Amino acid sequence: MTSTLLDNIGLLVTNDPAHGFLTAERENAAIVFEDGVISWVGDAGQAPPADERVDVDGRCVIPGFVDSHSHLLFAGDRADEFERRMSGQSYAAGGIRRTVAATRAASDDDLLERATLLVSEMRAQGTTTVEIKSGYGLTVVDEVRSLVLAGRLTSETTYLGAHVVPPEFADDPAGYVDLVTGEMLEACAPHARWIDVFCEAGAFDEDQARAILGSGQARGLGTRMHAGQLAPSGGVRLAVELGAASVDHCTFLSETDIEALSSGNTVATLLPGVEFSTRQPYPDARRLIDAGVTVAIATDCNPGSSYTSSMPFCIAVAVRDLGMSPAQALWSATAGGARALWRDDVGVVAVGRRADLVVLDAPSYVHLAYRPGVPLVGRVFAA
Ligand SMILES: [Zn+2]
Repeated sequence: MTSTLLDNIGLLVTNDPAHGFLTAERENAAIVFEDGVISWVGDAGQAPPADERVDVDGRCVIPGFVDSHSHLLFAGDRADEFERRMSGQSYAAGGIRRTVAATRAASDDDLLERATLLVSEMRAQGTTTVEIKSGYGLTVVDEVRSLVLAGRLTSETTYLGAHVVPPEFADDPAGYVDLVTGEMLEACAPHARWIDVFCEAGAFDEDQARAILGSGQARGLGTRMHAGQLAPSGGVRLAVELGAASVDHCTFLSETDIEALSSGNTVATLLPGVEFSTRQPYPDARRLIDAGVTVAIATDCNPGSSYTSSMPFCIAVAVRDLGMSPAQALWSATAGGARALWRDDVGVVAVGRRADLVVLDAPSYVHLAYRPGVPLVGRVFAA
């Protein structure tokens, strides 16, 4: 058993609700952790003795990022589509099928190696908790395989058999929904914590989404949803009605959607990398925050619509283009992500929580948005 003292923290962001809302900051702080768990938080110079002392020399320390939305199990990339979009073509959901074909053809080793590389990229940029979805297999065997491989990288695995209708079911979407809610669910559920559905034109409509998430709930899975990416739909209200942990994208929202979100417990997860990479309009985070909605931000790391693994990048875009303050964006990327995954052991720096800590090479987290694109993540402690 080794204890570590992180000393001389210039600015510590705790997100500890006991110390006020939002980031809850303290100056000249220190932290002790032991066996991956925080055992003491207080003023620098007052810490109990520890086996090891790390002097961070006035730097800012924040909770590790919680990236609550990613699709890391895939093969191939779609740089050509990105290039065409940046030359004026618009985004449509259909490109997913290209990645499905490449993923089915890839070996387990290849898929795992690529996903492991992406998780290391994330870690180097301060992410200590990541959710990973299946959804590029879309057969019973390929979806199970994706979830088994994802389970080697995280405990936050999400069954997304309902990503799109695969080409072999193009004439029988109802038959595919039967598969997703039947045999595929049975095979995938033991390897998943969550079930998700892409509720959007070109993917699944609200009735299908209701059937899919309902079947997962009955099988004991928590629910989450992709909705409101390309146009407003009833998907957001459906997510709230079903008690989903999170509804993700929320780019297009009606007043009724906002009212539903503010009266329910579903987190609205914004994915600014998507709008950046598709040149769609950005969601309005301020409107959600003003209405009292809990907002998270995540990367949505995937080869089609947002091929970034960087939470600092998403924070910078959230501040610049979604109308968030630096403090709100940081909270949403840490404590907000934790809420979107129903986790209370991460996203917060407090005694008894996991020692997931990021030392920034900066005096303040404001620099994450103020100095976009600069690698400010110095040291990362993960549990
Ligand atoms: Zn997604």
